[in-house]
Amino acid sequence: MNKKTPTGLVQLLREKCAEHSLRLTPQRIAIYEALYGDTNHPSTDGIYRKIKKQFPSLSFDTVNRTLLTFAQIGLTGVVEGYGDPKRFDPNLKPHHHFRCMACGCIEDIYNDSFDRVPIPEKLRKQYAIRGKKVVLEGYCKTCQKKKQ
Ligand SMILES: [Zn+2]
Ligand SMILES: [Zn+2]
Repeated sequence: MNKKTPTGLVQLLREKCAEHSLRLTPQRIAIYEALYGDTNHPSTDGIYRKIKKQFPSLSFDTVNRTLLTFAQIGLTGVVEGYGDPKRFDPNLKPHHHFRCMACGCIEDIYNDSFDRVPIPEKLRKQYAIRGKKVVLEGYCKTCQKKKQ
């Protein structure tokens, strides 16, 4: 087992799998660890490439299905709609995003004033709001340097 993964995380995977009658397979653990080891909101492809060496027989589809299952049972978030490919977000703490329009990198932002942006009452009545995210778009540091 990957030493870098805090035991609490695998414990959460174990609990969620038990709760949803899923078997805790070595493949699921590996996918989960690859996801949590990645802070750049990986797509299925990114995770697939990471664990292909360890599990050569694992298909892209299986990895994709496993990640979607993880999202369904609350083990990972999914980055809000930018179309395909879907990007996964292992960071379950409330946070906001910056997305680079050139390289597509997505960074996590923590900001009190974003957290406090009020949801208008009309919208609160209209929808059963479960979350709120501020998404900033622009150019990351690396891409800004390239443009100069
Ligand atoms: Zn960039
Ligand atoms: Zn995030």
